[in-house]
Amino acid sequence: MRRRTIEIEIIQSAAGMQRMAEQIRLRGETIAFVPTMGYLHDGHLSLMHEARRLGDRVVLSIFVNPAQFGPNEDLSKYPRDLERDLALAEKAGVDVVFTPAEKDLYPDGFETFVTQTRLPDHLCGLSRPGHFRGVMTVVTKLFHIVKPHYAIFGQKDFQQLAVIRRMTRDLNFDIDIIGCPTVREAGGLAMSSRNKYLSEIQRQSALSLYRALEDASRRVSEGETDPQAVIGSASATIEAAADTAIDYIRVCDPGTLEDLSAIDRPVLMALAVRVGATRLIDNMMLTPPD
Ligand code: AMP
Repeated sequence: MRRRTIEIEIIQSAAGMQRMAEQIRLRGETIAFVPTMGYLHDGHLSLMHEARRLGDRVVLSIFVNPAQFGPNEDLSKYPRDLERDLALAEKAGVDVVFTPAEKDLYPDGFETFVTQTRLPDHLCGLSRPGHFRGVMTVVTKLFHIVKPHYAIFGQKDFQQLAVIRRMTRDLNFDIDIIGCPTVREAGGLAMSSRNKYLSEIQRQSALSLYRALEDASRRVSEGETDPQAVIGSASATIEAAADTAIDYIRVCDPGTLEDLSAIDRPVLMALAVRVGATRLIDNMMLTPPD
């Protein structure tokens, strides 16, 4: 049997990626783009499958973006495994993997950032100051380098998706932003590259996040309208699990991310919890009856 040759293209320089994107566009083909920080899992793969469905060419970027990590966060120990990622990307039908070096995206003297005035002042933006500035800056740069027609993001990072949608609209990027549902492990834990940090016992504790969201969803579907009651019960579920510390649990408007005083329409429940030293996030829409 003949061995399949690797057909995936790996590009490291921003200029090289721009040339490739230009060639694809000149051929009249569309580009679907999936930005990631690598250490790929089934959540990332679902975005690649959506990209494969949407575009003629699929570009995946793998870049652990220092600008979105705070000084005491896990930048230096963020999990990486490029060889494994390339094999998974190829299997998922990715055409081009863009893996820039840090110096290429942030050359000496870099001083230009993209900010937003309201959406980052909620949820993760409060506990991670500067995080969304880093995300918006790198996504803007990647958009200019990869020149996509479609860009695909996960709803697991709900606030990130909201911020990027708003930025794309506000700054007139000619790109369709696509949101994909959260992919979960068997017990409901949202897939994340950071799940690698969890011990077996912590993994069990981490299931409390999904249990709390599911329970909130059930309560609201049965008529509960008080956000504080729903938040209180979710807190109790998570606090009962070993080694957990709640960063935030919020019930908010999915458009503005502002807190709500009554659940009288579909709302977003979003939470961030430390399990041991690992910060996990998750969210779910809660829909009242009728
Ligand atoms: P990351 O590599 O963590 O920066 O994530 C890259 C992209 O994958 C982002 O758009 C995330 O929202 C998305 N993503 C991460 N985890 C999941 C998941 N469990 N399900 C769906 N999308 C995800």
